[in-house]
Amino acid sequence: MITLTVELAERSYPIYIGADLLVLPELLTRHIQGNQVMIVTNTTVAPLYLAMVEQLLDGYQVDSVILPDGEQYKNLETLNLIFDALLEKGHNRTTTLLALGGGVVGDMCGYAAASYQRGVSFIQLPTTLLSQVDSSVGGKTGVNHRLGKNMIGAFYQPQAVLIDTNTLTTLPARELSAGMAEVIKYGLLEDLAFYRWIQQHIDNLMAGDATLLARAIRTSCECKARVVAQDEREGGIRAILNLGHTFGHAIESHQGYGNWLHGEAVGTGLLMAADLSCRMGAISVAEVDELKALLVKASLPVLPPADMTEADFLSRMSIDKKVLDGRIRLVLLRQIGQAYITSDVDRTQLCQTLAGAAL
Ligand code: NAD
Ligand code: MG
Repeated sequence: MITLTVELAERSYPIYIGADLLVLPELLTRHIQGNQVMIVTNTTVAPLYLAMVEQLLDGYQVDSVILPDGEQYKNLETLNLIFDALLEKGHNRTTTLLALGGGVVGDMCGYAAASYQRGVSFIQLPTTLLSQVDSSVGGKTGVNHRLGKNMIGAFYQPQAVLIDTNTLTTLPARELSAGMAEVIKYGLLEDLAFYRWIQQHIDNLMAGDATLLARAIRTSCECKARVVAQDEREGGIRAILNLGHTFGHAIESHQGYGNWLHGEAVGTGLLMAADLSCRMGAISVAEVDELKALLVKASLPVLPPADMTEADFLSRMSIDKKVLDGRIRLVLLRQIGQAYITSDVDRTQLCQTLAGAAL
């Protein structure tokens, strides 16, 4: 087992990464203060892992709430099901919520924990690659609004993140690809050696090689933990983690949440960010092509939806949270392995990228 720490002074917490962690009661219970636990999961994950987690909690009052599965349920109405369960079962301020599932469950459970009785403890038990390398670390929690993704939420850190890599064995291939987009993102944004390592091992990673996946998760979490420790509330440098996301969010919201997976949209978004970086003279056409080949090997889409116009992109991008003073702010590449945040974007070059013009 590997243990990393997210360094946030009194809010610091460990990330445990390894196979078979969900059979070790003490690893979980050392982070539970009271005697009440509410497991928050969904209809897909519950039949696979709920009993396993319940078995770790002998002696506690253990309740669970099983949410409908899907990004389209990541809203206030579904959130309320968690509060209903907590109140109906008499959970008090010493309760601990366990987020058992992917990023949707994690974001909702975290936000429920942030607001239930003005804040109770929670622990992340992420079960998708995406949630293991990204959403379970860093304390962003929340739900979607009809008018925008993740528009209602809070920064709220968990007590611990427990990543049992065995859970990936049941994950559908498409979800593994989606998570791989975020893994590739970390390499692109600050770690050339890791990017080269991913290129070298992409076939075995996609085939589910447990040792390689654990290494990819570890390096990704290290990168995320490092950035979050510098800028917990995204006042500055943390926005670098949004590489590919401004384009990606535009695709996701245009298609309707849930049609393109978040990671799929991010994959295409990464390529669009690289494309624009190339037009601005920072990276070569060959490097863009290399990224495209990597995304293809990870079974990720490399073209935005056919019906999505430049105007669709621009209007979706200007409601993005990362827009400051009406100017489009983007994360781009200075080189492979080094991202930067800029609002100095040439509109013509941006439009060429959005229109998919040849490089
Ligand atoms: P998800 O939670 O929808 O999970 C994907 C699918 O896999 C679901 O159907 C789920 O039920 C299923 N599943 C989960 N674990 C499984 C397992 N082990 N075996 C089989 N099936 C399993 O999607 P996701 O990609 O994990 O997360 C996406 C969400 O995360 C988005 O809502 C996004 O906004 C959010 N997110 C948040 C942050 C953050 O910092 N908080 C960062 C990135 C993404
Ligand atoms: Mg993301």
